[in-house]
Amino acid sequence: MLPFKLVYHPRYDLHLGEHVFPSQKYRLIYEALLRERIAGPEDFLTPQPASDDDVLRVHTPDWVRKLKTGELSLHELTQMEIPWSREMVEAVWLAAGGAILAGRHALADGFAANLAGGLHHAHPGYGEGFCAIHDVAVAIRRLQADGAARNIIVVDTDVHQGNGTASIFAGDSTVFTLSIHQENNYPVIKPPSDIDIGLADGAGDDDYLAILERKLIEAFDEFHADLMYYIGGADPYCEDQLGGLSLTIEGLKRRDRIVFEHARRLSIPVASSPAGGYARLMEDTVRIHVNTIVAAAEILGRNSRRKVTAG
Ligand SMILES: [Zn+2]
Repeated sequence: MLPFKLVYHPRYDLHLGEHVFPSQKYRLIYEALLRERIAGPEDFLTPQPASDDDVLRVHTPDWVRKLKTGELSLHELTQMEIPWSREMVEAVWLAAGGAILAGRHALADGFAANLAGGLHHAHPGYGEGFCAIHDVAVAIRRLQADGAARNIIVVDTDVHQGNGTASIFAGDSTVFTLSIHQENNYPVIKPPSDIDIGLADGAGDDDYLAILERKLIEAFDEFHADLMYYIGGADPYCEDQLGGLSLTIEGLKRRDRIVFEHARRLSIPVASSPAGGYARLMEDTVRIHVNTIVAAAEILGRNSRRKVTAG
């Protein structure tokens, strides 16, 4: 049904219980895509968990061992802001495997979406802000090691700055990082991305979309990417509990379309992941993430038709 693949696993849920991070959203996104016939069962791929060797391309042996055994200090748990469980560890290893799979299929089809992940606050030696490991960084290192892609851009539109991404790829000329976020928000310390767009509190659709488009053009002028990882957070939404921007659901869909249109213009394949989303109503968070898939289908569909007309 879709001209690209979606990556989902029933064990993506981190099983956090009554936590502000609604990781059951992954299942709800999957169910909404099927229920609304945006996708059919044949559009989905099931990932394997990333291997420990893949996770170790980004994370320290000490941190991987601690996650595997659950021997985390109180400080480490506080910093990660989610409880440790075997289910959580399995889920993030699956998210990283899903990011690898989505990257490979994006290279083949132009686009692919992992329905979990975007864990952009995780650092090599510790977890932070609901992120135990950096799934996208693990995927980037694996694809580079395979020779599948060399120059990769990470475009991060989550309302919180991508501090883990910025730290992991600092000084690495093969990975370009762009983060558009609310300046007065977590994380307090924001290590520099290649391009950081720190927005004022309350910024709305028009301001956000204008500067995003300008900076995307700047990024693509500066860096020639073989592949984009798109971290499309739902939390710049005006009704988000952990965000302080004022984007509408329609504005967020326009955001996704702008990112995808520029990627298509330059024939850069895109692998997307959902990242954060803490709307007062869960259905809004789910809608925003579903719209990312719809936006990708619209952009790809339109381009396919153009190709047919031109040929
Ligand atoms: Zn966020």
